[in-house]
Amino acid sequence: MSSLHSRLKAFPSLTFILFWLLASALLLTPGQMRATTTVDLLVRGGTVVTMDAQRRIIPDGFLAVQGNRIVAVGTAAEAGQYRARTVIEASGKAVLPGLINAHTHVPMTLFRGLADDLALQEWLTKFIFPAEAKNVTREMVRAGTRLACLEMIRSGTTCFVDMYYFEDDIADVTEAAGLRAIVGQTIIDFPVPDALTPQIGLAQAERFIQKYKTGHPLITPAVAPHAPYTCAPETLIACRKLADKHGVPLVIHLAEADTETQTILERYGRRPIPHVERVGVLGARTIAAHVIQTQPDEYAILKKYNVGIVHCPQSNMKLAAGVAAVPEMRAAGLAVGLGTDGAASNNDLDLFEEMDTAAKLHKVVRRDPTVLPAETILEMATIEGARAIHMADRIGSLEAGKLADFIIVDVSNPRQLPNYQLASTLVYATKSSDVETVVVNGKLLMRDRRILTLDEAAIRRETATFRKRILESLQK
Ligand SMILES: [Zn+2]
Repeated sequence: MSSLHSRLKAFPSLTFILFWLLASALLLTPGQMRATTTVDLLVRGGTVVTMDAQRRIIPDGFLAVQGNRIVAVGTAAEAGQYRARTVIEASGKAVLPGLINAHTHVPMTLFRGLADDLALQEWLTKFIFPAEAKNVTREMVRAGTRLACLEMIRSGTTCFVDMYYFEDDIADVTEAAGLRAIVGQTIIDFPVPDALTPQIGLAQAERFIQKYKTGHPLITPAVAPHAPYTCAPETLIACRKLADKHGVPLVIHLAEADTETQTILERYGRRPIPHVERVGVLGARTIAAHVIQTQPDEYAILKKYNVGIVHCPQSNMKLAAGVAAVPEMRAAGLAVGLGTDGAASNNDLDLFEEMDTAAKLHKVVRRDPTVLPAETILEMATIEGARAIHMADRIGSLEAGKLADFIIVDVSNPRQLPNYQLASTLVYATKSSDVETVVVNGKLLMRDRRILTLDEAAIRRETATFRKRILESLQK
């Protein structure tokens, strides 16, 4: 004791430190006395929109990320036990699950604005299919995917479902950009840039699936029969068998236009949804885009196979395809997500615009302002979208154990104030340019609007080169 006493006398500063430590311990709450946990990333101070089962919105909340997963979500008072290598202060901002674009064709960004204001069949057969035949190469697909990934990161999309050609290259570029995606190799009955026959397409799809199917952190491979009017029943069945063989999703355009309904009725004597059921293409992990041409008795067919529905309001409006019965399908228990479709028919990949449009479209066609309120629309872009693409066990909400896919959005712009209801602010008053920070799989892809995984200037140059090339190809 005497020796300690003499040491304390000798080092008055040590006495002070011991006194301070004792006093601090007495003043700490039990929660604060817990051992600190060090995590990789801590977001604190923002309003956390969890989209969990209780739809909790936590003002002054926090989010802790370790590796690629969320390890804790809660109030700022509970954040004290976490220390992090990277801390993001999010006061005055909203932290929400990354948005899910459940249907798109990413390389088609390079066809954005090439041909507009035409009927679906004319647009496809006179412009899009010829432009694709002359221009779609691996190089073009990679450039278009890079541009799309840049646009999606900037606008808060963290996961997308794609259907196109050269999906191996799409997967490769998407992985480099850091986004999550279900990537579906298109199968179609006529010659396309990466396959002269559907058999060649199927063989390619299988090689692609085998390459990515064993638990890739970002990419889920899929098989994507284009549509019932472009794929014969044999092709559709082969796609289903391939999907089942490897346990991967099947992505399809379904019941999009009235011309499709007429064609399928003439060829097979059934409407599109009963036709695809009879053929046997519906099954596990089916993701169907558009689903406009429906009758009430057909919802039970879709429900029987747990088909995920993707509503693409802006594409459907632009091509005058019609309005999907979203409230009825949701009431029938179907999960309905949101998609932009390709940029050639939208003309952007902006989920904030898609949310605003979806919310308003159904109100005006029904003359009923109560349908699809802002909270529901936000669900469709996040947790319900995750259910529609059969990934709700991993993404779509901010909960401990889920993958760390989230965005931080500024909600303090004059057009967003005074902000009474956050869901309303996000759906009706927020623009994609308000997205400041994007994290996918625990990795920062954009921080304070600065893109971290892509070379934006190089993408602009590359896009200008392809613009010139595509224009020249159509003049030949
Ligand atoms: Zn589409």
